[in-house]
Amino acid sequence: MNAQTINPQSLNSQSLPVTTTRQTTSSDRLFLAGGPGFAQHRQVFGPLPSLSSAQLIDELRASGLAGRGGSGFPAWRKLAALDPAARGRSVIIANGAEGEPMSAKDATLLARAPHLVIDGLLLAAASLGSGDLYLYCSGTALDAARRALDEREDARRIQLREAPETFISGEASAVVRSIEKGVALPRDHRKRLTEAGLGGRPTLVHNVETLAQVALVARYGAHWFRSQGVDDESGTRLLTVRAPGNELRVIEVPGGITIDDALRRARVDPASLSAVLVGGYHGGWVPAQAFGTPLTRDRLAPFGASPGAGIVMGLAKGSCPIQVSAQIASYLAGQSARQCGPCVNGLPKMAETLSRLAGSHSAGGPLPATLAQEVRRLAHIVTGRGSCHHPDGTAQLVLSTLSTFASDVDAHLAGHCEEARA
Ligand code: SF4
Repeated sequence: MNAQTINPQSLNSQSLPVTTTRQTTSSDRLFLAGGPGFAQHRQVFGPLPSLSSAQLIDELRASGLAGRGGSGFPAWRKLAALDPAARGRSVIIANGAEGEPMSAKDATLLARAPHLVIDGLLLAAASLGSGDLYLYCSGTALDAARRALDEREDARRIQLREAPETFISGEASAVVRSIEKGVALPRDHRKRLTEAGLGGRPTLVHNVETLAQVALVARYGAHWFRSQGVDDESGTRLLTVRAPGNELRVIEVPGGITIDDALRRARVDPASLSAVLVGGYHGGWVPAQAFGTPLTRDRLAPFGASPGAGIVMGLAKGSCPIQVSAQIASYLAGQSARQCGPCVNGLPKMAETLSRLAGSHSAGGPLPATLAQEVRRLAHIVTGRGSCHHPDGTAQLVLSTLSTFASDVDAHLAGHCEEARA
């Protein structure tokens, strides 16, 4: 077997060189200023526009902008969710934590275009009358964020906070707890952050790329925003593309481009891959024969994937997909907060069972057919039982593995690995 051995923990943006396409392409919007300085930013994008809350919400609704942090929640809905009577007490947090080891787009955005993020945060705050503002990001992006905040008078009230390098540090309720108590653990979701978040006040947590896109929509309008992308994936989005033998690249692409196109734009040869994992470690596998699939929610759904936080991870031909998935599942099982039953018992058991399946070809003989059924059973058991989405996302990856690589699973059960013969 030519294994694509991965150490998921080592794949964070701190440990990998990130290449971004420097030359301007027709897709470039977020990186149009060509550098992180405030003077450049003002020269290209001009001053902050002034919009009422209703105007901003209407424009965002018409733009179709979906959140870029993973859930794809419509951006306008978050703003509209706040009770008008409580808006003056509200807190807004720009979330740049990339606990997902495969993602580097938020750190790259903060390094190259931090002022669009700050603009989006200030615009949202002005429209709601919010008092307290935070920028929460990983250590990788902290210096760039601090430099940008120091450059502008109107950003003095934004407080900078460092996110721990854990997988769940970017989960919205973990963000609030991290700022409030210094512990980035999700809390019970029965309490809505928009009603009682930081310090018991209504709180909005927006991904930093979402806020940067808000700044563009506020300036240029919904019609302009929709001039790139497709109906159900409007505008541009950032992708982090990683493939064996290639540099990690962060690229800006029109929404809804195909996987094949995204790989080529990141200078990855699609023919070198047998599949891609779309949406990160909580995403789904898409096989090479489906690389013509557009990166939209509907078209990716059959693979258990979604555009999510814009992650495309290639699986090299000749690598064992079951083994790679088992490594990721084991990593995810170790990343839980161990607060809820499915994380304490279910995820380790599911990861261990998938690892047994992954290693069966080298264990000297066939394994019971029930092993795959057991992995599936455990995935269904943990789904929907945690306080946060972590067990669901991990189960989704595992179920996508069993479905996309069904013939590899059968081969492993029979005691060999198809990729070993490739
Ligand atoms: S489901 Fe898991 S990760 Fe989420 S809060 Fe519970 S223990 Fe923590």
